[in-house]
Amino acid sequence: MSPVYMEVAGAAVSPHHYIDGQRVAASTDFELRSPIDQAVLGRISEGSPADVDAALGAAQRAFAAWSALTAAERLPLLERFADEIGRRAEAFCQLESRDAGVLLSRMRHGVVPRAMQNITWFARHALTLQDRRIDTEQAHHRVHHDPAGVVAVITPWNAPLMLSTWKLGPALAAGNTCVLKPPEWAPLTCSLLADAAHAAGLPPGVLNVVQGSGAVTGAALVRDARLARISFTGSVPTAKAIAHAAAANLVPCSLELGGKSPFIVLADADLDAAAATAALMYRNAGQVCLAGTRLLVHESVAGRFVAAMRGCVERLVIGDPRDPATEVGPIIHPRQVERVLGYIERARGAGARVLWGGERHPFGVQYVQPTLLTDVAQDAEIVQNEVFGPVLTLQTFASDDEAVALANGTDYGLGGVCYGEPSHAIALAERVRTGFIWINSFGIRDLAAPFGGIKRSGVGREGGDWSFEFFCDVKDVIVPNQPFRASFSAR
Ligand code: NAD
Repeated sequence: MSPVYMEVAGAAVSPHHYIDGQRVAASTDFELRSPIDQAVLGRISEGSPADVDAALGAAQRAFAAWSALTAAERLPLLERFADEIGRRAEAFCQLESRDAGVLLSRMRHGVVPRAMQNITWFARHALTLQDRRIDTEQAHHRVHHDPAGVVAVITPWNAPLMLSTWKLGPALAAGNTCVLKPPEWAPLTCSLLADAAHAAGLPPGVLNVVQGSGAVTGAALVRDARLARISFTGSVPTAKAIAHAAAANLVPCSLELGGKSPFIVLADADLDAAAATAALMYRNAGQVCLAGTRLLVHESVAGRFVAAMRGCVERLVIGDPRDPATEVGPIIHPRQVERVLGYIERARGAGARVLWGGERHPFGVQYVQPTLLTDVAQDAEIVQNEVFGPVLTLQTFASDDEAVALANGTDYGLGGVCYGEPSHAIALAERVRTGFIWINSFGIRDLAAPFGGIKRSGVGREGGDWSFEFFCDVKDVIVPNQPFRASFSAR
């Protein structure tokens, strides 16, 4: 059994669960390795159904007092939670770089500040949700956003800290208590999050963290009738399993899933800007749900666009994510490497031409070269399926109608990118069926804005008011304007 705290990348982190304000070791555990060099980082507790039961029990007991606080009373506690994340900033950076392979520079400048903001922004926004009033001829309505109850938060390995706080922030601010199930391939920053919550003085049971696999721990969590909500980010097959389990208890789910988003380059686009942004799709080794992985380029500019993008890709620095110069790091797990290489191999077998990349990268066994494949049919596996690696496809189009048809021609509908003269790009983007689309830009995410996908890319929206619509029970208290007279014939 692992000690209560172990040292990874110079940081003390617990491999165990955090239940009812205490560290709890499980009777079984699993090995965690770094994607950078396959070094063993430690052994992590594997949550049994009994551990999940204990976490849900703690969350349920804590709910009465936490939900009874006003948003204003919860605010200072949640601000302290964010402060405690900030006090551990370097540990969060080192841990997620080591266990998930995320760039250390991105952790420092992007992820950790955003994680803190995810907690404080929603805690402050919750203040605006108190008692909305609606006055009609008949009655005065007081509309409350009541906390829903115990929430399960389940997150993937490509952005564990960012995605966990993105869900915990509004769930806790709304007055819910939470059980977080971190990703088994990158669980360390979620564990450290529990330490931050503890140091901030969040009451025991308000936030619980149960480590473990999806098949055992996750499955035990989502089938439990004590849940009021499930907020999940991950893959489509897992979402179907979760929705199926949740349906047995009619538990509402928010599902943020994969993508195969179009990256459209119109003939009137700034090609250098478009090419530089397209190269960004290799960020995090392409393990980014919202990446525009299908390059759709007007045939008249395709040659110039590819040449400009080739220049950007050749300059990418691939290496150890802890090196400040590195721009592209490793793939999370040997299984994911095989999956990515398998997609490339099958695409080649089906006639795709490799414009660059296509092989393992010599930096390490879990590195794959940034890859661009062309001569791909719209119904080809490589165009239809999410690879979740540094692999893009290139298709050309002759008209806006054709661009829209290609863009909309998959089962996914998460995001998109459109480069072109602004009014032209906006007009085209309006016809693309996705949850969001960036014009002449990529990756701008404001917490006040809705985020989520359509079709296979998800169910529901989180962000801003949409998070609270999901994490709350909306209740209308109706007070008639006139004395009420009971009558069977009245409306
Ligand atoms: P995954 O679906 O395999 O796992 C996600 C989480 O679900 C993990 O914590 C896992 O342990 C858990 N899980 C697995 N089976 C479960 C079950 N039966 N019951 C309950 N929990 C279970 O996804 P992944 O491979 O970790 O992540 C990659 C996927 O996530 C990609 O498809 C990517 O597009 C998607 N993703 C989407 C977004 C978004 O916001 N739309 C963001 C990031 C990643």
